[in-house]
Amino acid sequence: MSGGEAERVAAAGRVPPGRASLDDERPYRQGELALSAGEMRRVGRQVVDLVVERLLGVAQAPPHAVLGVAEARELVGREVPEEGADLADLVERVARDVLPQGVRFDHPRCFAFVPTTGNYPAVLADALASAFLSVPGAWLVGSGPTQIELTALGWLTGLLGLPDSFGGVFVSGGSVANLTALTAARDDRLGGDLSRARLYCSTQAHPSVARAVHVLGFGRDQLCALPPGPGLRLDARAVRERVVADLAAGLRPFAVVATVGTTSTGAVDPLPELSAVCREFGLWLHADGAYGAAAALTSRGRERCAGLAWVDSLTVDPHKWLFQPYEAGCVLVRDPAVLRASFRMDRHRLDTGYLAPARATGEEVNLDDYGPQQSRGLRALKLWLSLSAFGAAAFRRAVDHGLDLAEYAGARIAAHPDLELVTPPALGIVTFRYRGGGRAPQGGGSKREGGGAAPDGGLQERVSAAVCATGDAMVLTTEVAGARCLRLCTINPASTEADIDRTLALVATAGAAL
Ligand SMILES: *Cc1c(COP(=O)(O)O)cnc(C)c1O
Repeated sequence: MSGGEAERVAAAGRVPPGRASLDDERPYRQGELALSAGEMRRVGRQVVDLVVERLLGVAQAPPHAVLGVAEARELVGREVPEEGADLADLVERVARDVLPQGVRFDHPRCFAFVPTTGNYPAVLADALASAFLSVPGAWLVGSGPTQIELTALGWLTGLLGLPDSFGGVFVSGGSVANLTALTAARDDRLGGDLSRARLYCSTQAHPSVARAVHVLGFGRDQLCALPPGPGLRLDARAVRERVVADLAAGLRPFAVVATVGTTSTGAVDPLPELSAVCREFGLWLHADGAYGAAAALTSRGRERCAGLAWVDSLTVDPHKWLFQPYEAGCVLVRDPAVLRASFRMDRHRLDTGYLAPARATGEEVNLDDYGPQQSRGLRALKLWLSLSAFGAAAFRRAVDHGLDLAEYAGARIAAHPDLELVTPPALGIVTFRYRGGGRAPQGGGSKREGGGAAPDGGLQERVSAAVCATGDAMVLTTEVAGARCLRLCTINPASTEADIDRTLALVATAGAAL
């Protein structure tokens, strides 16, 4: 931007916070879409009451509710209302009838998927970011918001034990973080020519890895998903052999995707060995730690995630094990300049004239040059505010609690006459099966066709369904080595040993009744 322009824009200087009139009758702006100050305050307080009721009352309702399709349509409405209705009434109805219809991930006995708990400062942060129209895009557009994001990225880097050089950007979640990292890997290693390129992961990798590869324009055969070795971990020797064979066949290996905490069993691929292979052949090492990387906040988790500091890029989802509400994903890269090389707005020969006034000069950072989005919500604020309000030590203890609880569940399962561990506690996940009367099916063998018709007549699914039907706990199944089993993800800091006991008792009771 021209010197004069920059000065004129900068002359605006720091903006004082808006001074609202205390007059309840005054509309906050002229024209349409305006409410009076009094109405905003009244409905705002109503929302806070609904939020507090929701957060404190979570255990008073079942962890899961689901609407019928017709019922859902009826509740939400089909036609766009031409005339407005009472806001307080709408808020009340949507909060009571519609929003609760789904999984309540923060329920202390919701052990399904990867349950995030959210937190109250984060709820406030989302409201604030929304009200202030905060955009951590160009420095000129949002210098304050951008600094919040840069600081949050720095904190995350430090908490995970990554080198200071790491930087990145907040994105919607792990899927877009994987996509963003693999875009950088592709551009950095392949120079625009995708032909004969190959990248490697285990079959335990998250499906979003394959989807990212698809979006990036690779064919199905270009992602080599290798069967995992012992402990369901990607075998670095198998990767090396495959890379050597592919090179000999004239193919172009360029990246390895390691998973730090597979969603199914919590397995961690061996980063030190994989990074050695990557160094040997000049491959990019991406770690998908969407849920599992947060374990590195604790000392034992840091041991499990050994080698994290050696990756080229890392996916981490604060909306999983860092207790943030959706959406909060993050991609961190050893050298953020590679993200800029891929995503710079002026990389392309399209007219960016209207962006010229916002071009970064000097040390200013335009975060919209570091990822696929231009306008972007300030997702970092919730992490910044909750870390500031509770302190990192509380987050460490909360993560530690999840690790403890999985250990506890593992011990109780191992000692239970009707239950049997399938995979040991790993990063807050334990898998097991109900084996009524000692008729344990052998599931550890070969992978069956079609992704797992149950050898025990669907017993684990039926146990899961019966437990969920009690409305007291939510336990779903996963597949390990071709066989269905039950799965607990115990990362809710509000869950207790009593919640584990109660849930395992429900499993045993449900199994015995079938
Ligand atoms: C959840 C998860 C993802 C996808 O993250 P979203 O936030 O749902 O997009 C990717 N990888 C792993 C390992 C995950 O657990």
